[in-house]
Amino acid sequence: MPLNVIREDIQNLTAYAVADVSDDFIKLDAMEVPYLLPEHLRQEWANQLVNIAINRYPHPQRSGLPDVLRQAFAIPKEAQIALGNGSDELIQLLTQLVAKPNAVMLAVEPSFVMYQHYAHLYGLQYISVPLKADFCLDLEAMIHAIEQYQPAIIFIAYPNNPTGVPFEREQIERIIELATGLVVIDEAYGAFSEDSFLPQAGQSERLLVLRTLSKIGFAGLRLGYVAGSPLVIEQLAKIVPPYNMNQLSLFTAQFALQHMDAVNHNIEQVKQERERMQQELAKLPETEVFPSQANFITVRLTQAQKAFEQLYQHRILVKKLDQSHLLLCDCLRITIGTPDENNQVLSVLNQHVNNINKPLAAIAQSRKYLIGIMFVLLMALFAWLLWQYYVD
Ligand SMILES: *Cc1c(COP(=O)(O)O)cnc(C)c1O
Repeated sequence: MPLNVIREDIQNLTAYAVADVSDDFIKLDAMEVPYLLPEHLRQEWANQLVNIAINRYPHPQRSGLPDVLRQAFAIPKEAQIALGNGSDELIQLLTQLVAKPNAVMLAVEPSFVMYQHYAHLYGLQYISVPLKADFCLDLEAMIHAIEQYQPAIIFIAYPNNPTGVPFEREQIERIIELATGLVVIDEAYGAFSEDSFLPQAGQSERLLVLRTLSKIGFAGLRLGYVAGSPLVIEQLAKIVPPYNMNQLSLFTAQFALQHMDAVNHNIEQVKQERERMQQELAKLPETEVFPSQANFITVRLTQAQKAFEQLYQHRILVKKLDQSHLLLCDCLRITIGTPDENNQVLSVLNQHVNNINKPLAAIAQSRKYLIGIMFVLLMALFAWLLWQYYVD
């Protein structure tokens, strides 16, 4: 049996579940941007695609993309960058880079699940520090863990996924200061956030800033990058597979970033809708809306499982976080869609909370009757006692 040559821990894993729903579903589960580039740009792009040397191996460094990235995102010149087939690949490679025997990876929980996955895959000890109940960072506990475990690598998603809540900048700075190993600030949602560590990339040898084009409209490209000190990026370059990027992505990313106005326009629309959704969701009874600096909102509501199913029946897919972590009990993560899609979410959730509240209201109502009946019975008993007394 070939299975017995395969690692047992891998046999015991379950594959990352990519949602499998039909095309008519409204997909609000994976932080995709609901917009394409405008038609005229897509035409221009298509016209240029015919010239791509698909017969040649890609050469990321000579492709021109690194320079375009530097310009589009103001990456400091002290920083070097490495490209990944999605930032996911870079998480994997950075983990491999430090995977010495007994090395420790530190992260907060709940956070992006792939950190832990790669820690286990490459034999690192994985240590996690729980967030506070409001999904803020527990700095004391982090400092304690850094001192105790001397992690080779720390992953912090800033803003965090799946919670959307931003951590305090000063807390992250403190962690970078105290760390003895690498600190990866994963800014997958950086474009939607008010703050970034990208301007600091290249300053501290420990700091690596991880970014992706996935959450700003190009999830299909699979293009991520990491900016950090030359010291670390040069080591990382040794284990990046030689042809991990492909010509089509390299070209398309360049094309898109040369039209940053159009990209930013879509980002702005999503941010506006996030603000509106934040306000509208907060109006739902018994619903806790966590403040988000990302392109999704995490909410806690009564009977999240039921809410998820109700959305699903209306062909809307969101992420059910309930049962994935203790702190995420009754939570759903809703990616921001188009205004129309968002309205549909609001309408279904409105129905859901009202349906939930109906039986409660009915009980409350019937309790009033019960009290009334008890009162009448008590009065009757009292009258009867009085009558007994006087008759005697
Ligand atoms: C989505 C996500 C990624 C992975 O993005 P890709 O570039 O598409 O691989 C990495 N980190 C966080 C926190 C994410 O949410």
